[in-house]
Amino acid sequence: DSAQSAVTLRAALRSLPPYKPGKSAAASDVVQYKLSSNENPYPPLPSVLDAVNQVSPEMNLYPDMTCQAVTQAVAQRWGVEPSSVSFGSGSVEVASQIIRAVCEEGDEVVFAWRSFEAYPILAGLAGATAVKVPLDENERHDLPAMAAAITERTKVVLVCTPNNPTGTSVGTDELHEFMAQVPSNVLVVVDEAYVHFNVDPDAARGIDFFREYPNVVVLHTFSKAYGLAGLRIGYAIAPAHVSAALRAVAIPFGVTNLAQQAALASLAAESEIEERITALVEQRDHVHRGLAEQGWDVPESQANFVWLRTGAKTQEAEEIFSRHGVIVRAFGDEGIRVSIGSPAGNQAFLVAAQEVLDLVR
Ligand code: PMP
Repeated sequence: DSAQSAVTLRAALRSLPPYKPGKSAAASDVVQYKLSSNENPYPPLPSVLDAVNQVSPEMNLYPDMTCQAVTQAVAQRWGVEPSSVSFGSGSVEVASQIIRAVCEEGDEVVFAWRSFEAYPILAGLAGATAVKVPLDENERHDLPAMAAAITERTKVVLVCTPNNPTGTSVGTDELHEFMAQVPSNVLVVVDEAYVHFNVDPDAARGIDFFREYPNVVVLHTFSKAYGLAGLRIGYAIAPAHVSAALRAVAIPFGVTNLAQQAALASLAAESEIEERITALVEQRDHVHRGLAEQGWDVPESQANFVWLRTGAKTQEAEEIFSRHGVIVRAFGDEGIRVSIGSPAGNQAFLVAAQEVLDLVR
């Protein structure tokens, strides 16, 4: 109505791509497997539920804004100073903090494409320009092209490894070569949301790069390997002055007490978490082998999902999966990302994938 139409919104919003979350299970006769959001199929560990239950009577109180206990635990886990650790309501919020802390209007944020779809949204929201550098023919980061894309306006480079949605990981040597070409005033963010599933011995480890270069930030989350996606907690390991800036731009009290306690309990349950990760990696490799046997050409995934190149048939392919009760994530006319779920879900996916292959070929 007229009262609303007088309100003007920022021009940047007009060109913002929408964030489309993975679909949820709809009411259906077929058993539904939600493999559309890279979620962990395991329920919370009993010790994590206990920790949450213990603090839930304090819901009337604000959480510890400094996240002191979990900051200490993360600092200890990685052998870094607590001053280098900062939190957000999921690592997507931390990524947003980084761009808002570093970019002036018109500055550039360079990242591979396709990659995590929040990147162009976060850049656009900050008034920065998203510079998308196409993945190479093997769906891997094209680091030489990314280095070449850096200009005087570039303030942030986002390196997603393993990459969402293709699962490909960046190697240690190639990331060192890349860093040698990056000006020291450009912040390189290594987004390791899926790092726990990465078993490639040659893969770059963000923490090693943080230790070696003063312009590297590592992003981690409790949403994937730790299975706390619904609680929203992630963190950055960054040079102390950058961490201080992230705390300054963070929404006050953005990380709930429940999330902080669940993260703490998860860090204390490392061996149980490890067992689950191992099982998921085995399932991923099982799915990968199954797809290869069917004749699919799937890039090697080091994450908890696989990428199917379905091209122009993506829409139809998504419908076939849906008929089989397998809810997947379709990306335009490029491909489909399928999360590794329970063995039953993965089996249902493989059965459907055979039918999809007949369509795509
Ligand atoms: N980075 C990447 C690469 C992701 O895929 C995701 C989740 N889809 C995130 C960050 C954000 O995860 P969260 O906010 O749940 O920590």
